[in-house]
Amino acid sequence: MGWRSSRHQHTTAPTVSSRTAFNYDATTLRLYTRSKIESIFKTFAPQLDSKQYIASAAIFPMRVNNYVLENLIDWAVVPNDPIFKLVFPQPEMLSADHLQTMLAILSRPESSRVQVRNTAEQIRGTLNAHPARQKEENVPKMDGKPVSGLQHKYRETVLFFPMEGQFCHSYCTYCFRWAQFTSVGSTQQFKSSDTQLLPDYISRYPQVSDILLTGGDPIVMSAAVLAKYIRPLLDSSKTAHLKTIRIGTKSLGYWPMRYTSDADAKDLLKLFDDVHKAGKQVSIQAHVSHPRELQTRVAREAVRLIRMTGAQIRSQAPLIRHVNDSADLWRDMWREQVALGIVPYYMFVERDTGPRDYFSVPFSEAYEIFTKAYQQVSGLCRTVRGPSMSYSAGKVAVLGIEEMYGQRVFVLKFLQARVPSWTSRVFFAAFDARATWFDELKPAFGDDQFFFEKEYEELGGKSHEGSSGQVRFREGLASRG
Ligand code: SF4
Repeated sequence: MGWRSSRHQHTTAPTVSSRTAFNYDATTLRLYTRSKIESIFKTFAPQLDSKQYIASAAIFPMRVNNYVLENLIDWAVVPNDPIFKLVFPQPEMLSADHLQTMLAILSRPESSRVQVRNTAEQIRGTLNAHPARQKEENVPKMDGKPVSGLQHKYRETVLFFPMEGQFCHSYCTYCFRWAQFTSVGSTQQFKSSDTQLLPDYISRYPQVSDILLTGGDPIVMSAAVLAKYIRPLLDSSKTAHLKTIRIGTKSLGYWPMRYTSDADAKDLLKLFDDVHKAGKQVSIQAHVSHPRELQTRVAREAVRLIRMTGAQIRSQAPLIRHVNDSADLWRDMWREQVALGIVPYYMFVERDTGPRDYFSVPFSEAYEIFTKAYQQVSGLCRTVRGPSMSYSAGKVAVLGIEEMYGQRVFVLKFLQARVPSWTSRVFFAAFDARATWFDELKPAFGDDQFFFEKEYEELGGKSHEGSSGQVRFREGLASRG
């Protein structure tokens, strides 16, 4: 079995305590996809019915690597282990009908690959593959044409999707970008290999202070490829207003050897160092779902090495049923992160896409979990914001649940918004114990609309002019005369 041929082999299932024994020097990355589920289960979890997991992985993207298999998953408690739920698509992520349909197709010897793929596509097509109006409202236009590979939703921050970074060291089952890794997303992927695109675009928008390289996971790219995109931003006076290069990555959890022992690990760290020397900041937006991800020696060494370059690490993750829906877990995670020098940044809620019914936690419960954890940590952990959702109009946090004027309400706040003047505005929605996404909320106190909706509709009417970050930027210039 290919996946057993890694340098670090287990004859018995690894346990949580075995993680500290991991030898992380010169380990080779080995990737395993759906076709390896059966053999992985035979060794690590023979009690599981692999057919059900294979059916789920025919619809949702699945990839796992040797480090995650051997060091993060606690096989003694599978299928209830949170990291197992994080990387192996679960049968319960599908409706009973969809699961039965896929099981039936896969069980028929005469089923062709095309039939399996078509069935998977039909099911994916029902799962809101591109949420939050990303395609309609976030893609900017240059010279009248949509710019592939960029999103400019908020005035100060531009997202760039480097072509070579549109996959990950493992895939998360709850990933809101899951469509990027499947056929429903492949024709619509956000991606670009144009290394001049970012400097050209940013030079036109002096209010852009931050870029976010995202994917997938840009840290899957070699240091040389990453440098192709980053170095042109460093020395030009046209991009002097760019202050921070954010990199969204789960590499600390899924492949920390990227910073310690991969062949180009030193080059990667030198690139961060060079950004720092050029007077800009690298901000690693580390996706950390579970405390276990930062408890291995190699992950901690990776954090230390990154911080030595002058880069900062901020942590963020969604609150996910079956993976991290516990206040004590978040409390421990924030405390440990601060002890490592990581800044807790966001607790999100699961987005309205893919298998959200399986993973989502209602706002009311998310607020309780956030608050209970927040109340147990020191002020240094309270840089974290949440529970927050990346709604199409902006990032909205649930600040509280209160009784006001005889009504139970959610107290909400825009942490970030398509229209800058909405940012920091507090507003109210009628309490709904089951609501998991903004669309399910109604304004409080009998109002017909939330305060921003009319202006948002007007902004939608201008989407032919460009993305919201562009349009509002131009309007800002116009209003200053
Ligand atoms: S690392 Fe991020 S982009 Fe990759 S699968 Fe996980 S959530 Fe999605």
